[in-house]
Amino acid sequence: MSLLNDLDTRLLVDLLRDRMKPQKSLGQHFLVDDSVITRAIEIVSEKSNSLNSDSHVLEIGPGPGSLSLEILKSGAKLTAIEIDMESVLHLNRVFTDLESQLTIIEQDALIGNWPQGLTHIISNLPYQISSPILEKIQNYHLKTPLCCIVLLVQEEFGERMAMNNGYHTRGPLGMSLWLDFDVNIDRKVPSNCFSPAPQVNSRLVVLTPASREELVDINRKLFRLITKHCYSNRRRKIRTSLSKSPKRLNRINNWHKKRWNLAMEEILNESIEGLPDDWPDLRPEDLGPIEWALLTSKISSK
Ligand code: SAM
Repeated sequence: MSLLNDLDTRLLVDLLRDRMKPQKSLGQHFLVDDSVITRAIEIVSEKSNSLNSDSHVLEIGPGPGSLSLEILKSGAKLTAIEIDMESVLHLNRVFTDLESQLTIIEQDALIGNWPQGLTHIISNLPYQISSPILEKIQNYHLKTPLCCIVLLVQEEFGERMAMNNGYHTRGPLGMSLWLDFDVNIDRKVPSNCFSPAPQVNSRLVVLTPASREELVDINRKLFRLITKHCYSNRRRKIRTSLSKSPKRLNRINNWHKKRWNLAMEEILNESIEGLPDDWPDLRPEDLGPIEWALLTSKISSK
């Protein structure tokens, strides 16, 4: 059995960096600040049960294995998906005799199915794949509900996920996540907490499952399409954007340009309960997620 207590962050990072040169294209900025790792694990206990032998964590991009080390110390089962062969060889060298607790998969985390029965996802995400990974997390969660997700992401991206820093952070990314999660921003992680240091600061972000009564019958695809369509021209009035049917409308069951145009002839002249009377003349960022949900339901009903 590996002596987990003999390993530490600095040692793991040094051992890996002795054998490879970090690649920017893979977002290889390794955490060297233990307080960030401790905080990531602590958040899990605050938002759900503490990690224990009943937990099954997915880590995307374990790299040197510093975050993996703390997850393993909790007794949780860990599946770690890493694209970089040198990192995988390193992880297999440092974490030996942990077969029943740790599975290391050499693969692009965007490809293929993730294991069944995951309870948590904890990851210092490679920033290049942040958006598609979130989509994959959301799809996984719809089939197998997760307890809690803790991610380290670029600060500006984290603010857009949580839509917490002024109306300008509202957008399709946060709207889509809002369908399934409460998204909260946790501590700021300055660039000097990584080696090599990235050019921007990062942020811990926490996603906890949300059940929203207002979404019981919502057409999720239509909600996403409408918000994306309107936010693609932030300065345009909602009326102007909605007057034109969204691209790829045909991909949504029973929707086509003709139905859209007929629906808009009515809706753009109607008041909708829960929305300001002048809603068509507002800009997309003036509406909050619940208002977009009400608007989507109205459109679906036509
Ligand atoms: N978890 C480590 C840490 O916190 O120090 C490393 C995080 S580093 C920001 C991102 C890691 O993701 C790197 O190890 C990189 O090789 C890996 N990675 C990049 N793209 C990936 C992908 N598509 N699938 C899986 N791993 C990926």
